[in-house]
Amino acid sequence: MSIPLVDLVAQYRSIRGEIDHALHAVLESGTFILGPQVKAFEEELAAYLGVRYAVGVASGTDALILTLRACGIGETDEVILPVYTFVATAGAVSQVGATPVFVDVDPRTYCLDAEQVEAAVTPRTRAIIPVHLFGHPADLAPILDVAARRRLRVIEDNAQALGAEYRGRKTGALGDAGCLSFFPSKNLGGYGDGGMVVTNDPMLADTIQKLRTHGGREKYQPEMSGFNSRLDELQAAILRVKLRHLAAWSERRRWIAGTYRTLLADIGAELPQEAPYARHVYHLYVLRTSQRDAVRDHLRSCGIASGVYYPRPLHRLAPYRRLGGGRGFPHAELAAEETVAIPLYPEMGDDQINAVVSAVRAAVAPAASPR
Ligand SMILES: *Cc1c(COP(=O)(O)O)cnc(C)c1O
Repeated sequence: MSIPLVDLVAQYRSIRGEIDHALHAVLESGTFILGPQVKAFEEELAAYLGVRYAVGVASGTDALILTLRACGIGETDEVILPVYTFVATAGAVSQVGATPVFVDVDPRTYCLDAEQVEAAVTPRTRAIIPVHLFGHPADLAPILDVAARRRLRVIEDNAQALGAEYRGRKTGALGDAGCLSFFPSKNLGGYGDGGMVVTNDPMLADTIQKLRTHGGREKYQPEMSGFNSRLDELQAAILRVKLRHLAAWSERRRWIAGTYRTLLADIGAELPQEAPYARHVYHLYVLRTSQRDAVRDHLRSCGIASGVYYPRPLHRLAPYRRLGGGRGFPHAELAAEETVAIPLYPEMGDDQINAVVSAVRAAVAPAASPR
């Protein structure tokens, strides 16, 4: 048996009739960019998250870039973000000309450590980007509180956590804007790139709608310099089908995580935690063990995939080395050395779940010396 980290073919087969039907309808319509599918998907996603506006764009990275631009953030501005996240979060800040300011993460949730945010605020700070990493919400209340007191924007990077909840409310809907990615392996993934910005702010929505189409609503009448960054009709049609399954898929992810929690409770590795304020949607199921590389070798020998998200915190990557400098980010450094994601996706069957459990149990020495 070989078990991948995510199985997009199994997912397609489980909804093939609906997907094929939706694709054919778009092909027969002859409309491929910003048509009725994108509009309907924007409305359905806004309703799902409980926000007023949703604007489809070309990727999650573009969702961040266009949001930063729409907030007027650029040269000389600083934006606070976690030092442990996918590189796109920082890349978007750099692309608008602003400076990323890194903050360490909470060692239990791997999300931005809310308590360290305020110390990073300077007169140049314009925004905070909390990342709901691995499907677990960042602790938003204290972050929103600092932002309100210091007059900063909060842009949620919700690329990994669509469907997650913070104190009973959906993540992505709680800051000034939420940025989503529909990269194929995300919890709601298309068959190509795609992204969306969600917001309750009519000015932000209006500006992002203009930015995505060369800076204006009317052809050849730009109001600002813009981009070509649009969600296409085929992706929107696919994502509309998949959105109908998202709640069930999230439940299935949570059920598998619960099974892992029960069957792996006694091993010498730390399992993912769900904070009291959180509903986790397990985009990735990330274990923590000081024997990480040995565990990965054993899983590989059993045909079981594993992944490291992320092997280096951002201040150790080439574009950002000059930023982190001497300041330490001990929680992020340790997480980068000790964490490993094991397979968790909704289409896993009992045999696969059991095989992962047996292999992990065999790979991790029993809990002897707690760290
Ligand atoms: C995937 C991801 C992005 C970028 O999304 P793309 O659609 O791949 O551009 C941004 N931030 C995080 C945390 C992500 O996981």
